[in-house]
Amino acid sequence: MKQFHNFINGEFVATAKTFPKRAPVDNRVIGAVHEAGPAQVDAAVAAARAALAGPWGKMSVVQRVELLYAVADEINRRFDDFLEAEMADTGKPKSLASHVDIPRGAANFKVFADIIKNVPTESFEMATPDGGKALSYALRTPIGVVGVVCPWNLPLLLMTWKVGPALACGNTVVVKPSEETPGTATLLGEVMNKVGVPKGVYNVVHGFGPGSAGEFLTRHPGVNAITFTGETRTGEAIMAAAAKGVRPVSFELGGKNAGIVFADADFEKAVAGITRSAFENCGQVCLGTERVYVQRPIFDKFVAALKAKAEALKVGPSEEPGVTLGPLISGEHKSKVLSYYEKARAEGAKVVTGGGTPSMPGTLAEGHWVQPTIWTGLPESSPVIQEEVFGPCCHIAPFDTEEEAIALANATNYGLATTVWTQNIGTAHRMAAAIEVGLCWINSWFLRDLRTAFGGSKASGIGREGGVHSLEFYTELRNVMVKL
Ligand code: NAD
Repeated sequence: MKQFHNFINGEFVATAKTFPKRAPVDNRVIGAVHEAGPAQVDAAVAAARAALAGPWGKMSVVQRVELLYAVADEINRRFDDFLEAEMADTGKPKSLASHVDIPRGAANFKVFADIIKNVPTESFEMATPDGGKALSYALRTPIGVVGVVCPWNLPLLLMTWKVGPALACGNTVVVKPSEETPGTATLLGEVMNKVGVPKGVYNVVHGFGPGSAGEFLTRHPGVNAITFTGETRTGEAIMAAAAKGVRPVSFELGGKNAGIVFADADFEKAVAGITRSAFENCGQVCLGTERVYVQRPIFDKFVAALKAKAEALKVGPSEEPGVTLGPLISGEHKSKVLSYYEKARAEGAKVVTGGGTPSMPGTLAEGHWVQPTIWTGLPESSPVIQEEVFGPCCHIAPFDTEEEAIALANATNYGLATTVWTQNIGTAHRMAAAIEVGLCWINSWFLRDLRTAFGGSKASGIGREGGVHSLEFYTELRNVMVKL
């Protein structure tokens, strides 16, 4: 059976305590994950700290950049290994993992290598009280050991989105992947060794959150900064841990995103766009659309069209041709999603399609499958509309005016993303300015340029990463004043 070891100081480290990794497609045990205790987390943090003072810390930016290019190239060379690991852990369709997860995993190293190579720092000539001059300039210095705590929905993509810029800036990292997806983070250890990234620069500790590696890492006084992607509730716990020692945090948290479709939208494109944003990755995307608001004149037609699209999605295992929808990540998550399916029914929603589990053949029947589901008719106060379900489902409600659509979109604690569909350029820009989110897509969804700011407003996050914004988190500016 596959063993998922910790990766500490360039070595794969076994522990006495393991837990099973199960395949979401059929619930079969596919590996044993070696859970890091306090001793392993201590060792990982110590290795990361020592590496800061070693060859890594002494490297020029150009040398670091060359190593990060080599990491990206090696991920691409081992593309199939990463693809297989990601599909085994998540059950997501091959078409998705091969076009999104793995290419972005490699790109995250290349893009931030380019950014750190090209970013200027400030320099001012200033007048001094004695009538002379001084030069004041900034040195961009690493923040130190960064704790990286990751979710399971886009494991390699979201982990490297933090590790890429952290390493580009000269930091070292200790990564805690999700307990559900240990594969690609472990594999990345092999890549680091192969291309010659010094020992201790990249470390991985496996385990859970509270009372396990996640808590040990985020409470560890040797960690200088914490970057986290996951649920808002977990963010609260990590923020409390980070308060000790006043360590900075960067948080990408949950969402309850609105999709808004105006009557003047290109109908076919809007239906296709909302189909993707509601159901891609089986709805397990923080940026996904779980609340859809459609202008009244096209409401009935839109609901019928989205129903047809949802019913045409093909549910199945990763490598089956034509599959567009995989399983949910775990039995626990399936129970959570189905509890919302139940709540919707109990609150009197009209179930337009889905609402249960599909019947799957053979051993797949043990997997964590749920039907893509659409509801109408719930009050806006319903937990189904206010809480993040993180499954392949959405509720559709009608609206009449632009003002009403804005009010509906903003009536949630979250503020991560929105997608607006209209052909009126004025409407589009007014919506972008009025909806309280970090990301607003117009006539599109999930378009990302890694040089731009990414993050959430309200309960959806703290700070922005992407482009130079990542550098703001992963470095500190030291101001140097030189009397001339
Ligand atoms: P989660 O919060 O349950 O777990 C995320 C990670 O935190 C895991 O590695 C987990 O082991 C760890 N963890 C849990 N409790 C901890 C604690 N007390 N201390 C330290 N670590 C702890 O999230 P998840 O279920 O893995 O992921 C789904 C969530 O992530 C959704 O809410 C989704 O919206 C969010 N997400 C947000 C973004 C974004 O960019 N905003 C992207 C992807 C996912």
